[in-house]
Amino acid sequence: MNPSGEDALLASLPSLASLDVHNRRVLVRVDFNVPLRPDRTVRDDTRIVAALPTIRALRERGARLILASHLGRPKGQVQPELSLEPVGSLLAELLGCEIRLPDEVIGDAVRKLVLDTRAGQIVLLENLRFHPGEKANDPEFAAALADLCDLYVNDAFGACHRAHASVVGVPARVHERAPGMLLRRELEALGRVVYTPEHPFVAVVGGAKVSDKLTVLLAVISRLTQGDSLLIGGAMANTFLAARGVKVGASLHEADRLSDCRTVIKRAEARGVHIELPVDLRLGTNIQGASTRTIAVEDDTELDDNEMALDIGPDSVGRFAARIRTAKMLFWNGPMGLFENPAFARGTLGVAEAVAACPGYTVIGGGDSVAAVRENGLAERVDHISTGGGASLEMIEGKTLPGVTALQPS
Ligand code: ADP
Ligand code: MG
Repeated sequence: MNPSGEDALLASLPSLASLDVHNRRVLVRVDFNVPLRPDRTVRDDTRIVAALPTIRALRERGARLILASHLGRPKGQVQPELSLEPVGSLLAELLGCEIRLPDEVIGDAVRKLVLDTRAGQIVLLENLRFHPGEKANDPEFAAALADLCDLYVNDAFGACHRAHASVVGVPARVHERAPGMLLRRELEALGRVVYTPEHPFVAVVGGAKVSDKLTVLLAVISRLTQGDSLLIGGAMANTFLAARGVKVGASLHEADRLSDCRTVIKRAEARGVHIELPVDLRLGTNIQGASTRTIAVEDDTELDDNEMALDIGPDSVGRFAARIRTAKMLFWNGPMGLFENPAFARGTLGVAEAVAACPGYTVIGGGDSVAAVRENGLAERVDHISTGGGASLEMIEGKTLPGVTALQPS
């Protein structure tokens, strides 16, 4: 074990169990930033369900609970369509108890409601980002939130990379604080990948842009060694193929990132890391449409001007899966293609199935790749699926999250 970095930080954090919560007001920062349907019901309750163990444990111990979350991007203004009301209804159903929802984040009515709350009862504050002080980490706003509670618990892994009021400003003002059970589990799983990687390690990276994930790629490579593999798919792979001379037609790619791709390849090669790019591609002429053809890729391959590479092909899936099978530890972020359209989802599904079957320790970080795995019912067979997109990538980059630092004993 390497007792440095996030590992040591995790060990230094107070435990939830050590807090004396009975009959005391506990503000829990949760991540209820869930997708809503047009009728404003919750489309995916993963993040709400993930916070239930902490909420239940605190309730059973007689805490007076104040839950706080953001939802979407209301830009510091009240936007009724981004009210947490639908989340409150679902939470009430899941917990089988009443959820009290004031129509403000802070203010006299909220204070009164919180003071009226008895042991085991729950108040859900309105969307934190209805107030401009949340994103600005405004001292007055943070103090007003801190005034509502006696203790602070952070279970919002997905928000921990943001230095916002509810994430860093409140814990700075509340002496008794701890990470919730979800946050602890996230830090353990991602910390294991970052600080105690096991080899052969396989990193699978896809998604839209090299520019979004260049620092992630370079950080991952710096921890890989001879015999490890980096598998690259998705639109990102189009940019790598373009860097090799392939004419990628109308494919999503970043023409200004070719030299970054070459740097990634050089660094990987210097460490003896095996890099796998797609050897075949599924093409289409529009993203709503069907696949027009599947081609093998050589350095001199040319797509037509109107053709787009929208998924990796079957031979690529086979080669990726063969590498994935050998992994002692695996990290995956980013889909292999435009998986929202079933015509271009097979590459992502194939990789998801290989990851599910991998006997090693498997972690999937964030966003769209997680959605792909869940939609296909493979989530149970992965060791850890992160509830945070940006936060999980920042951890993989080796950064310490401000929300985690803020929980350290002062
Ligand atoms: P994640 O959220 O998992 O980190 P990203 O946000 O980086 O992943 O990328 C996901 C998006 O990239 C998806 O909307 C997907 O449709 C798109 N994408 C992946 N491959 C392609 C491709 N070949 N062409 C166009 N879009 C793609
Ligand atoms: Mg995404």
